[in-house]
Amino acid sequence: MQIITTKQELLQHVEACKQQNKTIGLVPTMGALHAGHASLVRRCVSENDVTFVSVFVNPTQFNNKEDLAKYPRNIWRDADLLSNLGAHFLFAPTPEEMYTAEEMNSTFEFGFNGLDQVMEGKMRPGHFNGVVQVVSRLFYLVRPDRAYFGEKDYQQLAIIRYMVSGSAFAGTFGDLQIVGCPIVREESGLALSSRNERLSESEKQTAVNISRILFESREWAKTQSVAEVQQRVVDAINAVEGLEVEYYEIVDQSTLLPAADFSHAIGCVTVYCGPVRLIDNIKY
Ligand code: AMP
Repeated sequence: MQIITTKQELLQHVEACKQQNKTIGLVPTMGALHAGHASLVRRCVSENDVTFVSVFVNPTQFNNKEDLAKYPRNIWRDADLLSNLGAHFLFAPTPEEMYTAEEMNSTFEFGFNGLDQVMEGKMRPGHFNGVVQVVSRLFYLVRPDRAYFGEKDYQQLAIIRYMVSGSAFAGTFGDLQIVGCPIVREESGLALSSRNERLSESEKQTAVNISRILFESREWAKTQSVAEVQQRVVDAINAVEGLEVEYYEIVDQSTLLPAADFSHAIGCVTVYCGPVRLIDNIKY
């Protein structure tokens, strides 16, 4: 596997692949890789001739400076893992390589048909603009045939799908296919996340209750209304000492608008476990 740190090098390798008519798969990440990321990379390697993985902690999608500073980083361990998984190129640029000073501070806004106005978008103003800024830049540079994203960040996946097919970017990325991959969990049910590295062992035990309650809520959904289940999940998680729900919303899987019933519905939750903000979701 080759490690690339500049856009210029990246463009040369991409061009060489294109010249040879090789299909290109891209897996964008922020590093501190775990088995969730590995599932995306494995699938990418199996479906494309060449796999590019980016590791870039994107400053423009963090609205909380402390969260950015504390984000776990371990590029050499990431490189080892990616090499073992059969990735061909690791693109690991600095922020200065990715953005001009002006771009770093830009407050430009994309419109996503309301998808970015709810849940994470409401709680983290500017977050999805930063995500789209970096992902669109990666798409321009790598020109992938397929790009892989986890359902763990369900709203992000919905916005990127919309960005490629239904917005100002429509058609810009050719036949690019966005591939959504299922959430990988620990045996306990806890959704894998780079942020779990910041949890102590006992906080981890506490955090397991989030997925336990989400799974249990599928049973509640058989006899109760959306509003009742929504409230019951919030109450059950808040009743666990050490957990505090920021939001739990049961929404339509496509529009992300409040669901009228459980057909085609997904529940998305954000919970503070101590100082660490965790997200998870469940399809009904
Ligand atoms: P991140 O490094 O957190 O930006 O994540 C990079 C990609 O990996 C995103 O598409 C995430 O949705 C995906 N991802 C993160 N955690 C998981 C998980 N537990 N299962 C599946 N995909 C994941």
